[in-house]
Amino acid sequence: MVLMTGKEYIETLEKRGPLTIYLMGQRVENPVTNPIIRASMNSIALTYDLAHRPEYRDIMTTKSVLTGNTINRFCHLHTGVEDLQNKVKMLRILGQKCGTCFQRCVGMDSLNAVYLTTYDIDQKFGTQYHKRFIEYVKMVEEKDLVIDGCMTDPKGDRSKRPSEQNDPDVYIHVTERQEDGVVIRGAKAHQTGAINSHEHLIMPTLAMRNEDKDFTICCAVPADVEGITYYYGRQSCDLRRLDETKEGDVDCGNPVYGGQECLIIFDDVFVPNDRIFMKGENEFCGRLVESFAAYHRQSYGGCKVGVGDVLIGAAATIADFNGVLKASHIQDKITEMTHLNETLYSCGIACSAAGQKTEAGNYLVDLLLANVCKQNVTRFPYEIARLLQDIAGGLFVTCPSSKELSDPETRKVIEKYLVGAEGVDTVDRIKILRLIENLTLGRAAVGYLTESMHGAGSPQAQRIMINRLSNIDEKMKLAKALARIEN
Ligand code: SF4
Ligand code: FE
Repeated sequence: MVLMTGKEYIETLEKRGPLTIYLMGQRVENPVTNPIIRASMNSIALTYDLAHRPEYRDIMTTKSVLTGNTINRFCHLHTGVEDLQNKVKMLRILGQKCGTCFQRCVGMDSLNAVYLTTYDIDQKFGTQYHKRFIEYVKMVEEKDLVIDGCMTDPKGDRSKRPSEQNDPDVYIHVTERQEDGVVIRGAKAHQTGAINSHEHLIMPTLAMRNEDKDFTICCAVPADVEGITYYYGRQSCDLRRLDETKEGDVDCGNPVYGGQECLIIFDDVFVPNDRIFMKGENEFCGRLVESFAAYHRQSYGGCKVGVGDVLIGAAATIADFNGVLKASHIQDKITEMTHLNETLYSCGIACSAAGQKTEAGNYLVDLLLANVCKQNVTRFPYEIARLLQDIAGGLFVTCPSSKELSDPETRKVIEKYLVGAEGVDTVDRIKILRLIENLTLGRAAVGYLTESMHGAGSPQAQRIMINRLSNIDEKMKLAKALARIEN
């Protein structure tokens, strides 16, 4: 049994082969010591550390269905609806603890989606993908790895199929078939936790047609394999992590934890046969994409709710620091925030509780409810953030730099004029305001707002699924039956 600690996880990243990473025009030699990147690693490290805390053990760890060993739930194939609900609960806890995206869920979601899809492919074509994939999952469980579920291609001209693009590299595709494997080329965009992952589990980004067979590839490569380059995504206020004064931490808002998104370039990367889980079976791309998307749309009913809890806590704290916590309109706004947040959680739990066993044996969430969950996530966090900004007042965007606190003369002025309710430390008041800035405008807003909009598919992707699954014919029959309409 391997259950790594957060420290051991960071050590595995240090021991990897060198990665080619670009961040703001510079090559990053050691991502582990880079303050911008390190914060995102700290968030994943939490997924390891909590597994060792007795109070979280039941939720963070579970028994492997493949080996019977105790494993981290992030490596797990779901064995029932309780498992699916525990996943949502786990993500809520982690969101509460780091206040941002902790990145590891895409791997868990891709493991489950590839597991059920490889089974279906083998049933139809007599291939050996599922057996291979089981061996891969065992390795992931045993080593307690972070997997980057690698789905979104850059896509180029959206009006064209992958095979019609002027430059085929805007979709990952096979460029060479060899006896012992294939060579792939292309890119994946918006990759959550890419540099912090041990492995990339590459999946097709959309349903492919016969002419797109070269683009129909599902496979795994180590994050340090030859031929990969990472372009680190800039996020709002990221340079604040480079502030050197102790007070600089105050301006970060959330000094310890962050998220990470990257553009990954695959420049003729070799993939051996035992790491290929789909190659050309384009009729199964839809199943893979839909199931991965559904699992990740379920995830948002957990992680965003946990971060939502932090927003609600920040709203109550700043109201308290301003001396208005008991005001009825403040209480009403906090109640509304809670109502919205718990609605999202209800969706995450509901799509889990209504999950079904797949042919492969693992459990898949209810597709319609998972899409409803994510559709709500594209909206409610914006309202929750709006209410937080309303309660906070304007100071979270007009507050002088914390460097002013380093000079005794200017500090005196800040303390005198930015004072809040009696007995509240002015610096504490600034700290919570900076956290609010971080959550609604800064780095964490990427995870809480924009990712809520576009992560796991933009709103229209869910509306297409909701429309497809809504069974309108059946509902028309219900209405007609009551109205005594024959046909
Ligand atoms: Fe996990 Fe949420 Fe980040 Fe997705 S957005 S990786 S579900 S924390
Ligand atoms: Fe995401």
